[in-house]
Amino acid sequence: MPDPARLSVDWRQAVRRSARMILVLLGPPGAGKGTQGARIAVHYDIPTISTGALFRDAVQRGTKLGRTIQKYRIDKGEYVPDEVVVDAVKQRIAEPDCAAGFLVDGFPRTIPQADAFDSMLTEQELSVTGVLDFDAPINDIVGRFSGRRVCPVDGSTYHVTVQPPIVAGLCDICRTPLMIRPDDEDAVVRRRLEVYQEKTAPLREYYHGRGLLREVDASAEPETVFAQVITAIELLRAQSRERSKQQDSQDR
Ligand SMILES: [Zn+2]
Repeated sequence: MPDPARLSVDWRQAVRRSARMILVLLGPPGAGKGTQGARIAVHYDIPTISTGALFRDAVQRGTKLGRTIQKYRIDKGEYVPDEVVVDAVKQRIAEPDCAAGFLVDGFPRTIPQADAFDSMLTEQELSVTGVLDFDAPINDIVGRFSGRRVCPVDGSTYHVTVQPPIVAGLCDICRTPLMIRPDDEDAVVRRRLEVYQEKTAPLREYYHGRGLLREVDASAEPETVFAQVITAIELLRAQSRERSKQQDSQDR
């Protein structure tokens, strides 16, 4: 007969291990992933690790990573090689503020990155708790972008429905006629979204196959989306605890 005291110790270990919440956010630009990510971070008191922000910060502070990044001219749309990205994330998650868990946004972007992420977590007896896939109809996202307006003189930004200028079509500050940025044109946004879908499809498949992916309907109001997000995270945590317990009983 198993010793009940020992069982409960193992169970507590399993819970402790899976208590470190590691979340991955997937979703196209304009799906509200940034806003929701920030709210998740506050709600669970864990940092958001965005590779974009990580790189910008490294360049600004002129660190070794920053100097490496600068060679790749991300501003010109060039990609930073997987090993550089993976190394940057590995260093970042070793920092003390990640002790209770963290959220990654913009990483992993490719299957090799996802594999490398998995291995670095396994080395530390950790694993991805879950992946939230922010999904909104392409037309909704196109609409969000196509309503954006910018002043060509002072750069102030508006949105025809969400944040309209006082006088339609004119900048509040300098009264210059507002413009649509080339990046916000319907066709450009549509193309960008298609490219995103194509590129991340294998990644969604990768996490779906492990039972880690949960879709979030990002077309609703931010408050409704957040409620969905919390429900999804709690479910993923419960599943993760279950997996961890099973793993422990297999190890024994
Ligand atoms: Zn202006």
